[in-house]
Amino acid sequence: MLETLSEVQSLDLERDALAATRGETPQELLDARARRSELETEHRRVKHLHDDLRKQVAAAELELKSLQERRKSASESALRASSAKEMSQFQNQELQFATRAQELEEDALPLMERLEAAAAELAALQEQLDELAPHLEELEAAERSRVADVDALDADLTDRRERLATSVDATLLRQYEQVRKARRGLALVGLLDGKRCGGCHVQLPIHVVQKVRKGQGVVRCPSCGRLLYQEPNGG
Ligand SMILES: [Zn+2]
Repeated sequence: MLETLSEVQSLDLERDALAATRGETPQELLDARARRSELETEHRRVKHLHDDLRKQVAAAELELKSLQERRKSASESALRASSAKEMSQFQNQELQFATRAQELEEDALPLMERLEAAAAELAALQEQLDELAPHLEELEAAERSRVADVDALDADLTDRRERLATSVDATLLRQYEQVRKARRGLALVGLLDGKRCGGCHVQLPIHVVQKVRKGQGVVRCPSCGRLLYQEPNGG
């Protein structure tokens, strides 16, 4: 009975180990994901900046166009002026519009340079993202396959475990499962040096050791509560 339970435990421990490896995503994949996330964040930041600059440049261009129209209109009005005074007023206006247009052009120049730089940076980031994509997808596919293998193996172990467990006494199995839950791992342990608990290493009372050796019923360690078991080859 305890031997079968011991086999159940072996399968449970295998499943524990498997569950631990399931979450062990390869560092290369984690790095690639982190790299993509970094690039995406940077891409969003630069895109935002780029769009903002483009709006500013468009607004400056619109204003420039309007100034040029007003300048032209002032210039035309100057030609049609009915007096020297009026002509001078229109010429003044024309000069003002010309000056503002020139200032605006000068202000817009660095904006346009920054817009160009942002566009170039955006293209470079996109290129890096495009380069990373197939590599990342390859790693993701390998990871999906790895996890699927782990799951298949676990399904097989679970199946074997369940079949084996049916031949273990229900009360014993329940005790085993309770201890396993409480002790996170080993619930059924052998004797250490023939006299100590294989789980918590406490020295066991003689009568407990004797009971274990005789293999009579279920004996639990008085200290940690684990089920004690005389291994066929040990002691
Ligand atoms: Zn113990």
